[in-house]
Amino acid sequence: MVATFIVGMLCTHLLCFAVMFWLISTRLQGDKLGMGAFAAGNAMLGFAYVLQLLGGPPGWNAASALNHTLTLCVPLVYVVGGLRFFGRAAPLLRPLLWWALAYTAAQVLVQWLAGPVARYAMLSFVSALAFLAMTAAVVQAMRGVARDLRVEMGLFALLIGGLCLLNVAKGVLVARDGLQALDMGQRLQIVFYVYMTFLATVLAPSMIWLVLRRLTDALRDAAGRDPLTQLLNRRGLLAGLQGHFSARAAGHVRLLLLDIDHFKRINDTHGHQAGDQVLCHVAEALRQTLRHGDLASRTGGEEFVVVCADADDAGVMRLAERLRVAIAQQAVSRSGAQGPLRCTVTIGISQVLRGVDGVEAALQEADAALYRGKKAGRNRIEWAHGGALQQAAPSPAVIA
Ligand code: GH3
Ligand code: MG
Ligand code: MG
Repeated sequence: MVATFIVGMLCTHLLCFAVMFWLISTRLQGDKLGMGAFAAGNAMLGFAYVLQLLGGPPGWNAASALNHTLTLCVPLVYVVGGLRFFGRAAPLLRPLLWWALAYTAAQVLVQWLAGPVARYAMLSFVSALAFLAMTAAVVQAMRGVARDLRVEMGLFALLIGGLCLLNVAKGVLVARDGLQALDMGQRLQIVFYVYMTFLATVLAPSMIWLVLRRLTDALRDAAGRDPLTQLLNRRGLLAGLQGHFSARAAGHVRLLLLDIDHFKRINDTHGHQAGDQVLCHVAEALRQTLRHGDLASRTGGEEFVVVCADADDAGVMRLAERLRVAIAQQAVSRSGAQGPLRCTVTIGISQVLRGVDGVEAALQEADAALYRGKKAGRNRIEWAHGGALQQAAPSPAVIA
């Protein structure tokens, strides 16, 4: 009676969360974070327990065979959900059908050759194996794709490992005592169902928490990025600088303000779309040229700010020069190529910056230096404390 009540609650729980996962998946556009597969897994397990409640005592019938196959398919469905959550394009339907067919065939064979006890013992031992593999996969993920979710993954590994042990114990009891070990009133059965209920209670909200975490992380990331170039925007730049200066061994930085020369002319001559391609070209040059630890951002129309971390004056100058040359030398790649298009930038370098408080002042210094560079002919680098450290060739501006 107690076991029947627990299994009834378990079914309700699994099926309710199946609906919730499915609803969440319908709200997610693009990457569904595995929610569709988790919904299917919960629904299948819930349905398997409904069959168990309706099916009566253990024996060989269609409901029991379907129950075993569904139970054994669930770990596979959850694994696919997990892979999809971590961005892997894992197929579901075909492997699931093959697995279901293979296990149903194995059931028929074992029932025919060795009888019902062997079939029930097989379910427990194969389930234990599946959960062991899942535990190993979760532990492996903690070192790779799920490095940022170590606590959550550790908890999952413990819970799934417990399920593996319970299935081994169940399999051993069935092999030793026969089908009476599966009586709903048996102590191990009650422990098993209580554990399953606990698992369903803990895992389902944990999955929702993981999805929420992913979504809020993605939102925060999007709020700090420029959608056109995927570089940081002003907000992302400030957050990056705050992160830099909050590190214990944070060194000083300098800000490099880059402004594309005669950009309006590029827009006017080649169109706004070509202008956008030029912006992406500059962003790509920044990405390719900057060192690990430097930050790149697009802070305005055709203005970019680079944070040059922990470098002496000569190092900053070398970096600025590498950027200037990289941008000027590479032609802008354009869809439907109408001939090469090049652009140049003028760069203003700020004084040393030692904390986030000084950002505005440093930007103004860099801007004043940049203005001098523009007046002096463009395609050059100017230092905040005056004097062009790098005199470059006259700006070719637009070469169509
Ligand atoms: P200078 O060499 O002195 O910097 O001249 P400039 O033409 O580059 O500067 P100006 O400030 O006169 O023009 C900037 C232009 O950038 C004007 C604006 O229409 C254009 N712009 C701003 N944002 C975007 C954008 O997102 N895409 C495109 N294609 N153009 C943009
Ligand atoms: Mg400008
Ligand atoms: Mg400009």
